[in-house]
This record gives sequence, C-alpha cells and structure tokens, in this order.
Amino acid sequence: MKFKRYSLPLSVFLLVFFLLAMVQLKVERPMLMAERFITDAGWIEILIIALYGAFVAYKMQDTANVPQWRKVTWTIFSVVFFTQLAIGLSGFDKFLMTGKLHLPIPMMILAGPIYRGQLSVMTILFISTVILTGPAWCSHLCYFGAFDNIASSGKTSREILKHKVAIKSTIIFLVIFGAILLRWFNVPHLTATLIAVGFGLAGIAIMIFFSLRRKKMVHCTMYCPIGTIVNVTKHINPFRMYIDKSCTLCMHCTRYCKYDALNPADIKKGKPSLSCTLCGDCLAGCHHNSIKYKFFSLDHEKARSLYLLLTISLHAACIALARI
Ligand code: SF4
Ligand code: SF4
Ligand code: SF4
Repeated sequence: MKFKRYSLPLSVFLLVFFLLAMVQLKVERPMLMAERFITDAGWIEILIIALYGAFVAYKMQDTANVPQWRKVTWTIFSVVFFTQLAIGLSGFDKFLMTGKLHLPIPMMILAGPIYRGQLSVMTILFISTVILTGPAWCSHLCYFGAFDNIASSGKTSREILKHKVAIKSTIIFLVIFGAILLRWFNVPHLTATLIAVGFGLAGIAIMIFFSLRRKKMVHCTMYCPIGTIVNVTKHINPFRMYIDKSCTLCMHCTRYCKYDALNPADIKKGKPSLSCTLCGDCLAGCHHNSIKYKFFSLDHEKARSLYLLLTISLHAACIALARI
C-alpha cells in the first residue's frame, strides 16, 4: 500500500529526469538555465526539477488536493515563464530561448503562422502537447491561462455561460480571417503586433470583469481561440472523463468546474461537455467518486495515474525549458 503511494512520484521523477537528461545530452546549445551559467550545473537543475515533479505528483494523487495544487503549480509555471521573459528583455539574453521574440499571447499560436506563412516553435510545441496529453495545455501548461485560473478562484457560480459555442466560433473565425487579411494586404509587422496586443489586453479585461465575478474561466472557455482548438482537437488523444451510474445528481461537482463543463445537462448525460480540460478539479467535489478518467480499457485509477504521470512530467519539463 505504502509503495503504491510512492510509485507515481517515482515514475514522474524518472520520466522528468530522462526527458531533461536527453535535452542536456543531445542539444548542442545549453537549454537548461543553470548550464548556461556553470558547466554541468544543468544536472543539478535536472535533479531539482525531477524532485519537484515527484513532489507535485505525491500531492496531486490525492483527489482532494487537485484544485489547490493545480493552481499553485500552474501559477509557478507562469511566473517562471514571464520572469525569464522580463529578465531576457532587460538585456540578459541567456534567459531567452532563441532571442526571436514573439508575443506571449496564446492567440499567436494560431494567428502567427497564418500571418507569417510558417510554423513557429510554439505552435509545434502546442500540437505535440495535444497529441501527448489532450487538453492539458489548457489546465497545466499555458503561460496565459494561469491568470484566468487565478481570476476564477473560489467556488464556481452555478450560472451557465450562455451562447458559448456561438461566441467561440465567431471569435476563432474572426482571428483566422483577420490574420489572412493582414497577410494578404501586407500589413506591417508593427501594426499586426499592436492588433495582437489589443487582443491580449481585451482578454485580460475579460478575466477582470467576467472570470473574477463568475468564478469561471470565462476568458479560456469563451474568448481564447486556442481554447476552442483544444476543445475540438483534444479527441486525437485517447484520455476521456465520464460520470458513472453511482452519480446521485447532487450537482455538487458543478461548483468545482471552472471550465463550464459540468452543468446539469452534462451530468445527466454522464460526461463533461466539450470545454472539459481533464483538469480533475471536479473529483475533489464528488463525494461519491462518480467522476472517472478513462484510457481504453484500463482501470479508472490506473487511467488517472497515467494521465497525472504524463501531465505532471510535461509540466515539470516545461518549467525547465519553456521560454521565448
Ligand atoms: S484557453 Fe487560451 S489562455 Fe486559456 S489556457 Fe487555453 S490556450 Fe491558454
Ligand atoms: S469537468 Fe472536471 S475535469 Fe473537466 S474541466 Fe470541469 S473540473 Fe476539470
Ligand atoms: S458530485 Fe458526483 S454524485 Fe454529485 S452530481 Fe457530481 S458526479 Fe454526480
């Protein structure tokens, strides 16, 4: 029993250590921050990050801890990302990945390649995470969504977000069409950048005026086009979530879902709606243990452990590597 409690943290430790060791050994330019300052110090950083991953796994394997620890770790990820960017921009370019700056607004993952006519590193990274972990980008890995998660802290409103699909579809259409027009008319880089900054600032306003009040991630579930892409493409990954027959329809879990994916109609259907990111917060709210992870025919507890192994390992590795 005791070993069971340590098997997930140990697996996360080994996977994170392996992933970062591969980067340390195979990539010519030092990717780990410590290695950029002192030769071989990258190995100490790898050890610390792998231990961090193991600690997070230890905490998050208990369903009651998920909402709190997901918020803490997602916030850490975002703070590390933006701190490195700020230091890098102030002249210490060791804190930048390539030095080729692009705006840290998720919309750019979609609009940037359309406007420039070529894929970016961030877009490739995003696609890889969707293949590996489905929607975890929007619950553990996005540098911007962590702010919406903070804004929505507290017990979620039971109020359903209305016209969600229509609003999301319209925004993603406008972003794609807008990027095509900017490219078509050869709009200068500065103008395109200012438009993107405006889009990002509008997103922050949505967090302040809507997410904060509703205690739901209104920015991520209704406005961000990358969230919409994740909602649709996450099914290329086999992980799913379902509600089994032990559900008493008490609706307690609704207060735990920041993504508006557990409204009464969804619960009656036995599965969260399209905006579910498999974040796992709702497991803490169900005292009947009715909400479960699914991965092919694997037992639901093993499916959840596998999902935690992949998402926490990716999260920890990205803390070491994700920068602009
Ligand atoms: S919806 Fe957008 S801002 Fe929110 S987590 Fe996903 S990509 Fe990030
Ligand atoms: S239904 Fe559960 S797992 Fe899905 S987004 Fe909501 S809280 Fe997270
Ligand atoms: S908290 Fe559990 S039992 Fe209650 S409605 Fe949600 S899934 Fe069903």
